[in-house]
Amino acid sequence: MAYLQLRGIEKFFGEHRAIKGIDLSIQQGEFIVFVGPSGCGKSTLLRLIAGLEQIDGGTLMLDGRDITDQPSSKRDLAMVFQSYALYPHMSVYENMSFALKLAKVDPAIVREKVERAAAILNLTTYLERTPKDLSGGQRQRVAIGRAIVRAPKVFLFDEPLSNLDAALRGQTRVEIAKLHRDLGATTIYVTHDQVEAMTLADRVVVLRDGLIEQVGTPLELYDRPANQFVAQFIGTPQMNVVPLQKLPAPVQQQAPAGAAGGCIGLRPENVAVRGTGATPVGGQVDLVEALGAETLIYVSTPGGAQFVSRQNERTGLRAGDAVSLDIDASQAHWFDQAGRVVAE
Ligand code: ATP
Repeated sequence: MAYLQLRGIEKFFGEHRAIKGIDLSIQQGEFIVFVGPSGCGKSTLLRLIAGLEQIDGGTLMLDGRDITDQPSSKRDLAMVFQSYALYPHMSVYENMSFALKLAKVDPAIVREKVERAAAILNLTTYLERTPKDLSGGQRQRVAIGRAIVRAPKVFLFDEPLSNLDAALRGQTRVEIAKLHRDLGATTIYVTHDQVEAMTLADRVVVLRDGLIEQVGTPLELYDRPANQFVAQFIGTPQMNVVPLQKLPAPVQQQAPAGAAGGCIGLRPENVAVRGTGATPVGGQVDLVEALGAETLIYVSTPGGAQFVSRQNERTGLRAGDAVSLDIDASQAHWFDQAGRVVAE
């Protein structure tokens, strides 16, 4: 049986059914990431697991016990918030030791645990400071340290890095990945950030409107999205999803029968742009974004299709240039009119 098991979990806010019957099995030690558009229910689902919101339907099992109606304090979970939620008047040491002190753990053991967590998180020299004398990244590490010392059954993270600048975000992401590798703690992590989802997760759960669209490893979702929604949600820049009718007949003819009236989906790296060529799809460059290691080229075609191409080289192309597109149909995803994947 799974370590954490969600069965038919539901949540209403008044009349609004925010979580619509979610089933999910999480194994011990897994790093699970919830992603989805704003308002899809990621935070609510995390808060239901944490016990910060009441579950209105279904059951939640942790390590063989039904915790559906248990108060948060009894669930043995630790949550790390975006806002850190540190006690401002307490030192780093006091913040990290607070829960253990409340639980009346022997002070010598408390010290040992806090010092070990501080060492893991590079906080040893900051233990006597108060949060106001720390950087955002250090505060977030204190919040994580406070969770670690409790050695909870599950770590819950609600967008923990979203208040950090890009560089610190990257560093802290790497630290969280290392921490998970070292501690192997079961973790559920909510984020808006694609890179965090793709790099941290063992499995990603894509949510939409209170339901799960797909669960899979990052590369499964990238390579084999179940539908157009997941295909366009995972990956930056987005997958090109273009109605077949906007493309020339030779491309349309490659589509499987089920995709009639539907769309072709191509990752930007599977669309090559050439200055000239014999491919059936011609177009004009709208915009070139030179990012250094790669170049993004936005092209529109006379049929009204728009594509973005990612090339791992610098091109001499400029807006307004006439180009032809090399579409690798062997890499294409095909979607029916309802946005479902069509098998070839
Ligand atoms: P975001 O990425 O913007 O944080 P989210 O995916 O985390 O969004 P939730 O915050 O879980 O989304 O919200 C899910 C839905 O439930 C939304 O429609 C939201 O308006 C609604 N909702 C969340 N909390 C409450 C609340 N306390 N009262 C009423 N409605 C709520």
